[in-house]
Order: sequence, then C-alpha cells, then structure tokens
Amino acid sequence: MQGFNKYYPPDYDPSHGSLNKYRGKHALGDRARKINQGILIVRFELPFNIWCGTCNSHIGMGVRYNAEKKKIGNYYSTPIYSFRCKCHLCDGWFEIQTDPKNTRYVVTSGARRKEEDWDPEANGGFAAYETNSNVTPGDPLAILEQSTEAQNYVAKVHMPRLEALQQASEHYNADPYIHSMKLRKRFREEKRVEKEKQEADNQLKGRYGLPASLSLIEDDEEVRQEAHQEWEKGRRELKSFKNLERDRLHLGSSSVSRPETLTSLRARLLKNTASRSRPFSTSFNLGSANRISDMKK
Ligand SMILES: [Zn+2]
Repeated sequence: MQGFNKYYPPDYDPSHGSLNKYRGKHALGDRARKINQGILIVRFELPFNIWCGTCNSHIGMGVRYNAEKKKIGNYYSTPIYSFRCKCHLCDGWFEIQTDPKNTRYVVTSGARRKEEDWDPEANGGFAAYETNSNVTPGDPLAILEQSTEAQNYVAKVHMPRLEALQQASEHYNADPYIHSMKLRKRFREEKRVEKEKQEADNQLKGRYGLPASLSLIEDDEEVRQEAHQEWEKGRRELKSFKNLERDRLHLGSSSVSRPETLTSLRARLLKNTASRSRPFSTSFNLGSANRISDMKK
C-alpha cells in the first residue's frame, strides 16, 4: 500500500513536475510494474470453483490472487479483460476472461471450471428461456416467423384493445366537473334521506320516551311482518292466560275452602287497616303491640 504522505526530497523543486514523475514511479506503484505490456496487477477473486490444470487440485470460489489484468478485446464498446493468475498450490498459470455477451466469466486456459449453474430442468422446473419447445433455438427462419407472428398479434389484438381501453377511459374521465356535480348531487340526496329518517326516529323516541342512544332498525316490510306476528302471538297468549284464570276462579268459587280463605284474608286486611288508623286503641292485636314495643326500645 502506498503511503498517504508524500516525501519531498531536498533536491526537488516544483519545476520538476509531479513527485511520481520526478522519482520515475507510476501512481499505482508496484502494481503497474508491467504497465508497458498493458498489464495491471489487481486482486482477483475466483467467481466459481475450478480445478487447476497443472496440479489438478480443487480451488474454491472466493480464493484471491494477484492477477495480471489485461484488455484483450471488445464486445461492442465493452472491453473484454483477461485475468492471469498463478496457482497457489503449484507454479501453473490459468486464465479467466470476462464474457460481456453472457455477463459471466469463462476459464480460457490452465484450469477447468466446476459446472454448478442452477439447472431448472434438472431440478423439476422449466427452462425460463425456452418458451416454445418445437422451435430449435438455432433456426433463424423459425425465429423470424415467430417474431412476425408476434408483431401481427400485437398489431391485430393488442393495439385495438389498448385503443378501446383508452377511449373508454377518456369517455368516462373527460369532464371532471360533470362527475363532481353528479357525485355531489347524489351525496346531497342521500344526506337528505338520512336526515328525514333521523328526524322520524327522534320523534318516535320522544313519543315513547326511549333513550336517545337507542338505535332503531330499518323499517321495511319484513320487519313489519315479524312485529305483527309477534304481536299476534302475544295477544293469543294473553287470551289463553285470561281464559285459564277465569276457569280457575270459577272452579275455586264452587269449592268450600275458597270463600273461607277469602273472607279471612278480607278480615285480616280490615283489621290491619283499622289498627294502623287507630294505633293506640285498646283493641290492637298482638302484631301491633310488638311493633310498638320495638319502637320504644
Ligand atoms: Zn495448481
């Protein structure tokens, strides 16, 4: 690594130009020792597993080398670089190149790559690049046919559909003012109906003294029917209950014990009333006497 500080020797003066130039050194230091051959030494990390071609040992992905990087050509305007590395287990050299066309690295000499690319077909999936298995990938006529078919499909099916959709969209969204007006009108009507209903509900609540928090259900035919049925049922029950009571009273008056209990009850009531209206009369019964003694305590 180069130092960050620069040492200016005593014999240096600014007319010499840059310090590197004066000392006869490259700015990249020792890494540029083969720069006259177009080679720069860089740190290169193996992008995949390989077997060294000389010692035949396995070298794992991620092992780093001081590689000689060199531009060897172009793919359109993208430079192709080669990285020449020396095996760390033997003295053999191997070379790896960039492949801009397929966006990958390829081993060109001195080693073998361990093929470990994900193969969807081998793993129960489908190859993503192959959409029509009938056409061999290398058949240019078939490809041309396919592309013209695709173009026709776009022109005859997709474009009209898109245009129709656009027209529909314009038809519905052309004038925002009209839409706004319609919407507000509808809101106003809904609000009015809601308000009327609220007022009617409030009146009903006021008439029957119902709590204001009580929410009344919607008044429709079904609810009305149901309420009517309930009312009918209640009336029938009341009627049958009254009939039963009358029968019981009728039966009771014919028996002997009934009037006795009735008369005794009446007598007791009368006596109680009398004792309450004249609490200090001499003819009070035992119950009132007890009560008075309680009060005296
Ligand atoms: Zn080796």
